[in-house]
Amino acid sequence: MGANNQAIEESASAVLKNRLEFITHSPEQTIELGARLARQLPQPCLLVLEGELGSGKTTLAKGIVSGLGVARQEEVTSPSFTLVHEYGRDRKVYHADLYRIEGARELATLGLEDLLEQDATVIVEWGEKLLDQEAEAQVRIRMELLEGDDRRVTIEGLGK
Ligand code: ADP
Ligand code: MG
Repeated sequence: MGANNQAIEESASAVLKNRLEFITHSPEQTIELGARLARQLPQPCLLVLEGELGSGKTTLAKGIVSGLGVARQEEVTSPSFTLVHEYGRDRKVYHADLYRIEGARELATLGLEDLLEQDATVIVEWGEKLLDQEAEAQVRIRMELLEGDDRRVTIEGLGK
């Protein structure tokens, strides 16, 4: 115990909140984490990705989308201009970026709720904008920039 006490408390708190933290040291590790997470996702599923520019949201999405087997890593690019990218045929995956979206009306035009009703996996960057809208996230992932190529990835299952 002793020096470990803080770690114990943090872990206990994380478990009670359904929260898990990972540190990745490279984009490849973040992709791998996304791919492994993808295998555990229910369907339909809404994933909200939070974190500043460059924190690795698109990189993680690459891992999730490719891990679901609907596209190759290099086919998964940032939807910052087109707002929503669509992947897959039988298993639909949508990847959206709300960075440029302002206000509830603009958000509504994206029709994210309709996408979820299609039994799809919906990945939303800058998803904190969604949380103001009552849409229920099932998984919230917070990305944080640490030193160099290190990123902290906090995954929180919100249940449903
Ligand atoms: P966001 O979508 O959050 O703006 P991106 O995934 O587009 O972030 O960009 C993350 C950038 O950081 C990429 O250039 C990526 O190569 C780099 N990077 C360095 N280390 C990591 C890491 N551990 N995880 C994810 N990206 C990393
Ligand atoms: Mg991005």
